[in-house]
Amino acid sequence: MGLIVQKFGGTSVANTERINYVAKIVTDTYKKGNNVVVVVSAQGDMTDDLIEKAAEINPSASKREMDMLLSTGEQISASLLAMAISAMDFPVVSLNAWQAGIVSDSNYSNARIKRIETERLNKELDKNNIIIVTGFQGINKYDDITTLGRGGSDTSAVALAAALKADLCQIYTDVDGVYTADPRKVKTAKKLKEISYDDMLELATLGAQVLQNRSVELAKKYHVNLEVVSSFENKEGTKVKEAETVEKMLITGVAKDDKVARISVVGLEDVPGVAFRLFSLLGQKNVNVDIILQSIGRNNTKDITFTVGLDKLEEAMDVLHKAYPSTEISYNDNVSKVSIVGSGMQSNAGVAAKMFEALYSAGINIKMISTSEIKISVLIDKKDTDKAVEYIHDAFIR
Ligand code: ASP
Ligand code: MG
Repeated sequence: MGLIVQKFGGTSVANTERINYVAKIVTDTYKKGNNVVVVVSAQGDMTDDLIEKAAEINPSASKREMDMLLSTGEQISASLLAMAISAMDFPVVSLNAWQAGIVSDSNYSNARIKRIETERLNKELDKNNIIIVTGFQGINKYDDITTLGRGGSDTSAVALAAALKADLCQIYTDVDGVYTADPRKVKTAKKLKEISYDDMLELATLGAQVLQNRSVELAKKYHVNLEVVSSFENKEGTKVKEAETVEKMLITGVAKDDKVARISVVGLEDVPGVAFRLFSLLGQKNVNVDIILQSIGRNNTKDITFTVGLDKLEEAMDVLHKAYPSTEISYNDNVSKVSIVGSGMQSNAGVAAKMFEALYSAGINIKMISTSEIKISVLIDKKDTDKAVEYIHDAFIR
C-alpha cells in the first residue's frame, strides 16, 4: 500500500476499449489500498494530427498557440478516463496542469517543469480520489499553457511522483519493457529486468523511444522508483534504478537515431577561437551539436564537421551561411547514428574494437566516432542502420 503514479501513453488510451482497460488497471491498483495518480497522453496520433491541422491553417503559428492547441489532446484523454472510472463507481477527478499545480518555465513547446504546487493534489488524495492528470502540460508565470516537448507525459509522471514522494512510478506503454535493441527489428533482443538511471538516460537520449530522456534525468535526481510496463499484457516490465543495485552487463543496449545530419564547414582559419565562435552561434539558436570532428585542411586551414538533429538542420545551415558567407559549408542528411550503451564498458577493454569489428564484418563504413565513459556512437550511411544494429547486437548480446 502506498502512493503509485501510473502513466499511460497514446496507444494505451487510443480508443474506448483501451480506455476501459486502463480504467481496470487503475481501479485494480486502487482496490489494493493504494492512492493512485494517473497521467495520460493524448489518444493515438492525436498530437501529430493536431500539428498537421495547425500547419494547414498557419505554417508559422506561434509556439504559444501551438501549446494551446496541442495540450487539448491530453485533456480529452484525462476526462474520458475519469468518466470510465466513474462509470465503474470509483471516486475520481481529472485535473489539468493549472489545477494540478504544474508550474513550468516559458519555453513554449519545450518547457521544463519548475515545481509542482501540491495543495490541490493532496486535498484530492485526502478525499481518497483517484486523480487523473493531463500529461505533457504545464502552466507558466503568465498563466499560459505550455507543453513539455514530445513524449513529455513521461516527465509529467516522474515529476508528480517526485513531488508527491510516490512509492512507485509506472510507465505503461505499448512495449513490455526496455530491450537491448528494438525488438521489432532485432529478433534476438532481450528484455532487461532492470537498468540503471545512467544507462537508461543514454539509451533514451540516443534514440530508444521508450522514455523521454528528461523523465529519466528527473527520476535519477529525485530517486524515483521507475518501472516500464506493458498496458496490453500483464507481464513483468523493466525497473529503472540506482546503478549499485543493477546486475552488471557489458552492454545494456544498442540504439539508433536516424534523425541526424552531418554538417561540414571547410577551410576555416586555423587560429584560436574558431570553434568557440562557431559553436556559440549554434548554441544561441538552441542547436544541439553532437559528434564533433576537427581536421587539418590545406594551407593553414581547418575543417570542422559535426552532427545535429535533423529537425535543426535548416536552422543550423542558415546560421552558418550568414556567419560564414564565403566559406564552403555542406551537409549530409543520409546518415544515422548507432550507439552502444553500458556502464560495464568503463572497466572492460576492447569494447570499441568489438563494435568496430562487427561493423567491419557487416561491410559498413564508419564516418565518425564519438565515445564517453558509458557509450560509443558511430555515424554511418542511413541505409546501413538496421544492419549495423543487428551485427553489433549479435556481437555483444547472446
Ligand atoms: N502527446 C504528446 C506527444 O505525442 C506527449 C506524450 O505523448 O507524452 O508527444
Ligand atoms: Mg503521444
